[in-house]
Amino acid sequence: MIIQLQPEVSSQELRDLQDFLNQISYKTKQVTTQKGSYLVGIGKREFDIRTVGFMPGVKDIHKVSDSYKLVSRKWKVDPTTVDLGDGVTISKGSLTLMAGPCSIEDEDQIRKTVDHLVESGIQIMRGGVYKPRSSPYSFRGLGLEGLKLWHKIAREAGIKIISEVMREAQITDMYDYVDIFQVGARNTQNFTLLDELGKIDKPVLIKRGISGTIDELLYSAEYVFSGGNEKLILCERGIRTYETSSRNTFDINAIPILKEKTHLPVIADPSHGIGIRDYVPAIALASVMAGADGVIYETHEIPHKAFSDGQQTVNFNQSHKLASGLREVYKLRKELLLN
Ligand code: PEP
Ligand code: MN
Repeated sequence: MIIQLQPEVSSQELRDLQDFLNQISYKTKQVTTQKGSYLVGIGKREFDIRTVGFMPGVKDIHKVSDSYKLVSRKWKVDPTTVDLGDGVTISKGSLTLMAGPCSIEDEDQIRKTVDHLVESGIQIMRGGVYKPRSSPYSFRGLGLEGLKLWHKIAREAGIKIISEVMREAQITDMYDYVDIFQVGARNTQNFTLLDELGKIDKPVLIKRGISGTIDELLYSAEYVFSGGNEKLILCERGIRTYETSSRNTFDINAIPILKEKTHLPVIADPSHGIGIRDYVPAIALASVMAGADGVIYETHEIPHKAFSDGQQTVNFNQSHKLASGLREVYKLRKELLLN
């Protein structure tokens, strides 16, 4: 159950509400985010929700039977808009594109990528400065200095930044230089990291875990939301299955299912989803048709020279074509499926 509180709810009203709910064996957790104040009630007892609905300090009350509550679409049918400032939003009614290298490598690479994004009308650049690599001998990123340089160049061109945060201590370091914190597939269930991201006022994109279910992704988002940060975006990036002919199995089903289960925006990552450069555009286009609110993909001037994930990285020509193709498919989806 979710009780939306009035902004001016008094502490006495709050106590009365909690007392009432405790009496009927509900546990409560108060959640205050950038956008509102909520009381999440966990319990099984059936009762007439109007009793609470009419109590002072209550704006609205919703029964939510799912185990994740605040991210559920059962209480909030309206899709959530995540605002990055300067007119850049991730919202219903537009398609968000994020592109860039797997890893940030050097100044020249940053400048060339930024120029490419500007030419292609892409407003958000992806790139890792702290890289989770399967082998400890692989390139592990330029770190904070690389992020600062990237931020300076991107800002000059009006480009927003999404980059992966791997542990709690990096949040403060990265805070002023990113517009979206990315939680990688290896960290989707790093609950202490999620707790800390719940305390900040900056958008967070959470990738689906390598072997994670759709519900587990939603629970991870619930951690951040219930911690106080509702600026959330979810990302399908493929899961590990018994199939070996692609890096991961991109779960196209997850897109409409997530859109049904949650009000949060859903972004597709076809690069990690299939892991094979030549197939990335097809999967990207399919994901938009399936209902994705946006696509994040890897691009590099010379993919085979990329420090990481070159095999799944499209070059700038391919990226340029893909960006316009994605916009065309998005228009077509709206015409065909009316959403
Ligand atoms: C990445 O975005 O480069 C990355 C490491 O992604 P994932 O966490 O999905 O593997
Ligand atoms: Mn990558």
